Amino acid sequence: MQSPSPNQVQDRPHPVGGRAGRRAIVIGGGIVGIASALYLLKDGWRITVIDPEPPGESTSGGSAGLFAFDHVTPVAMPGMIPRVPAMLLDKKSSLTIRWGYLRRLLPWMVHFLKASTPGRVDAISRALADMIGGAWDAFQPLIEDAGAADLIRRRGFLVAFRNDRFLTTMKRELDIQRRFDIRFDILDDDEVRQLAPALSPAYTRGIYYPDCAHTVDPKLLAQTLAGELVRKGGEVLRRRATGFEFGPQGVSAVLSEASRHPTDLVVLAAGAWSKPLATQLGNRLPLETERGYHVTLADPGVDVGLPIASGDLRFCISPLAQGLRLAGTVEFAGLEAPPDPSRQAVMVEHARRMLPGLRVEDASYWMGFRPSMPDSLPVIGRAPGHANAYFAFGHGHVGLTLAAVTGRIVADQAAGRPPAFDLKPFRATRFS
Ligand SMILES: Cc1cc2nc3c(=O)[nH]c(=O)nc-3n(C[C@H](O)[C@H](O)[C@H](O)COP(=O)(O)OP(=O)(O)OC[C@H]3O[C@@H](n4cnc5c(N)ncnc54)[C@H](O)[C@@H]3O)c2cc1C
Repeated sequence: MQSPSPNQVQDRPHPVGGRAGRRAIVIGGGIVGIASALYLLKDGWRITVIDPEPPGESTSGGSAGLFAFDHVTPVAMPGMIPRVPAMLLDKKSSLTIRWGYLRRLLPWMVHFLKASTPGRVDAISRALADMIGGAWDAFQPLIEDAGAADLIRRRGFLVAFRNDRFLTTMKRELDIQRRFDIRFDILDDDEVRQLAPALSPAYTRGIYYPDCAHTVDPKLLAQTLAGELVRKGGEVLRRRATGFEFGPQGVSAVLSEASRHPTDLVVLAAGAWSKPLATQLGNRLPLETERGYHVTLADPGVDVGLPIASGDLRFCISPLAQGLRLAGTVEFAGLEAPPDPSRQAVMVEHARRMLPGLRVEDASYWMGFRPSMPDSLPVIGRAPGHANAYFAFGHGHVGLTLAAVTGRIVADQAAGRPPAFDLKPFRATRFS
C-alpha cells in the first residue's frame, strides 16, 4: 500500500456531476455492496465490484431473509446489560464468547456499554428509525428492476412468547417502536394459534408486525441483483482487495492480490472484513463480528406461513424456498475460529419445542459473520480524509433490511445530493 501524503489528499466531497463514464469500485459483493453498486450505476458510474467470493456467498446469503422493519432498537438495551453475565454462563443462551477472545473484544465492549444508556438508546433508535423508514422504498425499485418480486413475501413477522414475563422484558423496545410508529399487535392465545397453527400450545402470547416482509431465498436475491448489475454493464471481479494507491484526487486505484484497478471512486462494503481496509484509509473503527448460525431443514414436516422468532432465545424460524431456516444466536470469537456446532444444536432443540413434530434429519448447517458496530449503527458516508472514498459496512443484525437504503445514501453523497435524513449518527468519526 502507498500511504496518502496529507498534502495530496483533498478532504472535500467528490465533485458533483461529471460522473458519466467514471469508474467506481465497490469492495465487497454482499447485499450491501451489490445494492450500493446498483444505486451508483443508476447515476452513470461505470461499476466494478471486487470480491473473492461470488455475490451473496458470504453472510448475506445465509441470513434469515427478514426485512426487519420493526428493528429500531439497538442490541445494547439498558435492560439487557445486567442479563449478559448470566447469558454468558448459560451454554443454551443466545449469546456466547470464546473466552480466549475476550481481551480483543474489550474495546468494542466498552463502546457497547456506552451505547446502552437511555439517552444513547433514544438517539440510536431515532437514527435506525430514519433508515428503516426509507428501507423498503429503496429496495422496491431494485427488486422490480431485477425481476425478483417472486422472491419476496409480505406476510409480517411474529415474535412468540410462552408467557407474559417475556412481554415485560420487551416493554422498553415496544415503547420505542410505538414512538416511531412501528405498527404491531399484541396477540392472545387464540390469535397466535390462528396466525401460526403449528406453534406449540405453550406459546400463548405474540407480537405481530404486519409491515415486515421476507425473502424466500436471501442468496438468490443477492445473486439476482448482481445479475441485474452485470446485465446493465457492471462488472463483478473475483479478487480480494488488499490496499489502495493515492493521488491528488484521493484514492486513485484499488489493489488486489494480482492486479491494480484504477478508479475515480471507491466504496468499502466488505462487511465484517472491512476493518483492515478502513485502517489503510486512516480510520480505526471498532468493527467486530457477531457470528451467527443457521440450520436449514429441507423436510421440516410442519407448515410455517411467516417468519417467527422465539421471544426467549431470539432466533428466527423462516419459511424459505429450501425449507425452514432456523437462524440467529450471537457468538464473539472473531473471524478465524472454527464454527461451534453446539450453537446450532441449541436452536434445533429450541425449535423442536416450538414446533411439535418438526423433522430435523435433513439439515444443512452454516455460520456467518455479522459486521457489527458497538452502537448497532452502520458506518455510512465519506471516509474522513478522503474525497472519493465511502464507507458502507457494519450493519449487524439488519444488513439485508438496510442494504438498499445504504446504497441510496452512498450514491446521493457521491452525487452531492442532500440526504433525506440526518446522517451524523452514521459517521465514522463518532468513536474518536
Ligand atoms: C444467522 C444470521 C441471520 C441474519 N438474518 C438477518 C435478517 O433476517 N435480516 C437482516 O436484515 N439481516 C440479517 N442478518 C444480518 C445480515 O446478514 C448482514 O448484516 C448482512 O449480510 C451484511 O451484508 P454485507 O454485504 O455488509 O456483508 P457480507 O454479506 O458479509 O458481504 C461482504 C463481502 O465482502 C467480501 N470481502 C471480504 N474481504 C474482502 C476484500 N478484502 N476484498 C473484496 N471483498 C472482500 C466478502 O467475501 C463478502 O462477500 C443475519 C445475519 C446472520 C449471521
